[in-house]
Amino acid sequence: MLGLMQNWPLLAYKIIDYAAQQHPRRKVVSRSIEGPIVETNYAQLRNRALKVAQRLVAHGIRPGDRVATLAWNTARHLECWYGIMGAGAAYHTVNPRLFKDQIAFIINHAEDRLLLLDTTFVPLIESVADQLPTIERYVILTDKAGMPKTALINAVAYEDWLAEADGNFSWVEVDENDACGMCYTSGTTGEPKGVVYSHRSNVLHSLIACMSDNFRISSRDVALMVVPMFHANSWSLAFSALMTGATLVLPGSKLDGASIYELLEKEKVTFSAAVPTVWLMLLQYLEANNLELPLLERVIIGGSACPRAMTKTFADRFGVDVIHAWGMTEMSPLGTFCSLKPETKSLEIEAQYDLKMKQGHPPFGVEMKITDDEGRALPWDGKAFGRLKVRGPAVSSAYFKGAGGNILDDDGFFDTGDVATVDEFGYMQIVDRSKDVIKSGGEWISSIDIENIAVGHPDVAEAAVIGVRHPKWDERPLLIIVPKKDRTPTKQSVLAFLEGKIAKWWMPDDMVLVQEIPHTATGKILKTALRDKFSNHVLPTAQEPAARTGS
Ligand code: ADP
Repeated sequence: MLGLMQNWPLLAYKIIDYAAQQHPRRKVVSRSIEGPIVETNYAQLRNRALKVAQRLVAHGIRPGDRVATLAWNTARHLECWYGIMGAGAAYHTVNPRLFKDQIAFIINHAEDRLLLLDTTFVPLIESVADQLPTIERYVILTDKAGMPKTALINAVAYEDWLAEADGNFSWVEVDENDACGMCYTSGTTGEPKGVVYSHRSNVLHSLIACMSDNFRISSRDVALMVVPMFHANSWSLAFSALMTGATLVLPGSKLDGASIYELLEKEKVTFSAAVPTVWLMLLQYLEANNLELPLLERVIIGGSACPRAMTKTFADRFGVDVIHAWGMTEMSPLGTFCSLKPETKSLEIEAQYDLKMKQGHPPFGVEMKITDDEGRALPWDGKAFGRLKVRGPAVSSAYFKGAGGNILDDDGFFDTGDVATVDEFGYMQIVDRSKDVIKSGGEWISSIDIENIAVGHPDVAEAAVIGVRHPKWDERPLLIIVPKKDRTPTKQSVLAFLEGKIAKWWMPDDMVLVQEIPHTATGKILKTALRDKFSNHVLPTAQEPAARTGS
């Protein structure tokens, strides 16, 4: 027997219809690329998105086409997203932090037909434009007055281009399973791969994000969307803020402490989401200027591990609740949230901070398991660690054009590439990336754990740990250190610092000092480059294998 409910397709552009109808005058505030802070609302945003869609269709954009954006978070960028989706096409957010060749690669791979870009990125795109044969037109997100001189083909000022549409238009009808957006992985290993979101996955994922244990966002919130729309689908905020009717604040290109503080204070922000580095800049600015955050209630921190000290400073000093979150582009991207379940409420405050170092528990809609290399499920005891795999309606089933082949196991789970523990309460903690974990004598050593402790040494600025070949143990850890300015930490003193804080057999077999550690475009340590560089490094223990017997 079939249910007798209406078949109301989950189409992402219905979100802006809802916001415009129920919250028409709710403010959308942007720090414009031109400089001033400007204001619009959801009703106006929808009107302009309709014009974008109409203008795209007039250009010849058809359902399934890809339209690229290379832009900061502003109302213009947001209306472009909705206009692209409303034309039946897929927005492709190009990440300006990728290397130039990768930017050209992903635009070609996605076969983007138009590129909508901020003036900031015109020089960058001019330098690769001769490698972009699929782009028919460049729309620069400014008006006539702000239009830079450019040799880009068919370049037009966005406001002029938009003025050619009257907005008398209805969204193009598509299926809820049709492509709606695209984002490429940052390509730490190999070429970037295209993740393709559907209307359905974006709607479900955003509904999930809004729930009380997650964003807990409502029309009473003022949400500052720091996380860029070009980074992992804006963590859903480009949808979830609108579907709840929250006031939306968009920081443009300025993510430094002073600029973020200005928006927090002026716009009375209650809720925000960003990576740890942004919060670090803000906290330093607050400390240096002796400022408070009386209205900010909670922040989502993810993208890389949120340090315990950050959670504690936010809570103790500023009364702000930190919700640590984990996810990845392939998961739309949210996977877990570290909100407190009732069984953890009785923990002492310091123990709660310890718990909040974990990446958290998945919401309804994300299934999770940890397995060994053979795919056998491991216990949820907070100790056993293995490959973290996930399944759900907003998790990738394949990459664009089949890149990377089959990415699911026999039960349909996607291997996240992370190594994690899960405790008895269902809280997941990332231990390492699976490619970075060090396999020593059949056991795994977490490079991240050692790095996190090593950076606590007073002379250490940055630390990386990689596995180096060893004749007896397969691999043993090599500790690579960037010293603080004018300091020269010795191997002895750093190893002594680690002693007692990690298992004996996790102790690095050697340490080297370097000037700098290479990073990916998104600021993660580039372990592949380090492994290449030190592939011939001979560990002192490798020359005398007998010395380690019994350790
Ligand atoms: P990018 O490399 O562009 O940041 P993703 O956002 O897709 O791309 O990166 C996802 C990866 O980032 C995860 O697989 C995980 O390794 C790491 N990550 C994300 N959030 C956290 C977190 N809270 N703690 C530790 N690692 C995290």
